Amino acid sequence: MHCPFCGAHDTKVIDSRLVADGDQVRRRRECLACQERFTTFETAELVLPRLIKQDGRRQPFDEDKLRAGMLRALEKRPVSVEQIEASIGRIKHALRATGEREVKAMVVGEMVMNELKQLDEVAYIRFASVYRRFQDLNQFREEIERLARGQDSADD
Ligand SMILES: [Zn+2]
Repeated sequence: MHCPFCGAHDTKVIDSRLVADGDQVRRRRECLACQERFTTFETAELVLPRLIKQDGRRQPFDEDKLRAGMLRALEKRPVSVEQIEASIGRIKHALRATGEREVKAMVVGEMVMNELKQLDEVAYIRFASVYRRFQDLNQFREEIERLARGQDSADD
């Protein structure tokens, strides 16, 4: 790591801490030549698994697409950007934690639904209705009624 001030190669780390929920390391460095201090951020390059669509096609994980889908469901809902980003962070973390090179796209869909369920029930219903495409209207109605009763569906 060369010094951005004088270009010298000898720098020492004077402080190191985890940031962004442990996804990044923030390092304070000092140049041994000019004594200027600067900060670096390091992120582990953990590759996210590719997604297997229902028809068998493989697609790279697309964070923008994930975010767009969640924002659509959360439109005009009282949920902050920070909460949404934290959800996306948890989904990515869970995907990396699988250690798999490929996962079914459905797995991501279920993760999104679980996150939305915690964030906002209306957004959850919106997303679920599109995602599950009203496969079973009774099942969908039961889900809404269960939410209306305030029961947790963690047992499913
Ligand atoms: Zn320097």
